[in-house]
Amino acid sequence: MSARVLDGKAVAAAVKSEVAEAVAGLGYSPGLATVLVGDDPASHAYVRGKRRDAEQVGMTSIHHELPATASQGEVAGLVADLNSDDDVDGVLVQLPLPGDLDSEAIVEGIDPRKDVDGLHPFNLGLLTLGRQGLRPCTPSGVLRILDHYEIPTNGQTAVIVGRSFLVGRPLGLLLSAKGADATVTVAHSRTNDLAAVTSKADILVAAAGVIGMITPEHVKPGATVIDVGINRTDQGLVGDVDYEAVADIAGAITPVPGGVGPMTRAMLLSNTLTAAESRRR
Ligand code: NAD
Repeated sequence: MSARVLDGKAVAAAVKSEVAEAVAGLGYSPGLATVLVGDDPASHAYVRGKRRDAEQVGMTSIHHELPATASQGEVAGLVADLNSDDDVDGVLVQLPLPGDLDSEAIVEGIDPRKDVDGLHPFNLGLLTLGRQGLRPCTPSGVLRILDHYEIPTNGQTAVIVGRSFLVGRPLGLLLSAKGADATVTVAHSRTNDLAAVTSKADILVAAAGVIGMITPEHVKPGATVIDVGINRTDQGLVGDVDYEAVADIAGAITPVPGGVGPMTRAMLLSNTLTAAESRRR
């Protein structure tokens, strides 16, 4: 293994202590509301982690649980109540929602000023326009980890595998925006000869949700490889990158777990702070 390991846990801890310091100076405790519908164990674990993080940095965690049988109207009604609650600075509805619930409609019901996941069309629109707004947590976590390790993006070729609205697309916008200035290709399941595309990348981001799909043939020697994938196996969490083999030729690489995952959680706190500061100004 020759690649430098980009330690998401350490960078996330740095982000958390910055947020905690800022919160301590506010004179109030920002409120992060979490909405959990149903009993998916992974969603419960994610929300537990987010609530604990919020409390650790001095925020107030306001938690609501609804049964999997909750109607669209009940979930939307709860979101509306949280929108008008002055103690709530951020509203996070844990996705995916169970059954036939329409997640897009629920996310669109969140007040964009409290949209700490950065997934409301208004905030995604601001991102597209290059204007200030709440950014999706995973893509901004990826930028933050690159920044922390002083990995340049300016003029670099970046290839992202995956075009979801949660990760791939917004990350493409962030990396190609003024300031980051990368030249971006967003590859996806219909991309022809993926290895030919990805092996041009100075920065390769895997966000497809396919275990070990990025192998050495996909990677330019010396490239930075960011593994967003989180796949559950009997052996625990694994990413989209064949870590051991790729680490031999990459210049830098994020592990799974301990890479992008902790950054996503940390950026949620950063967004909640931003939301509180701008709404209560
Ligand atoms: P998604 O299923 O919405 O999107 C997957 C994308 O990958 C699609 O655009 C699809 O076209 C592309 N894709 C799938 N198979 C492919 C293939 N063989 N070749 C090329 N492209 C392919 O998933 P998502 O929500 O964007 O999540 C992607 C992965 O990232 C998942 O493993 C998810 O668990 C993980 N994730 C991690 C974090 C984190 O904090 N680390 C956050 C969100 C998502």
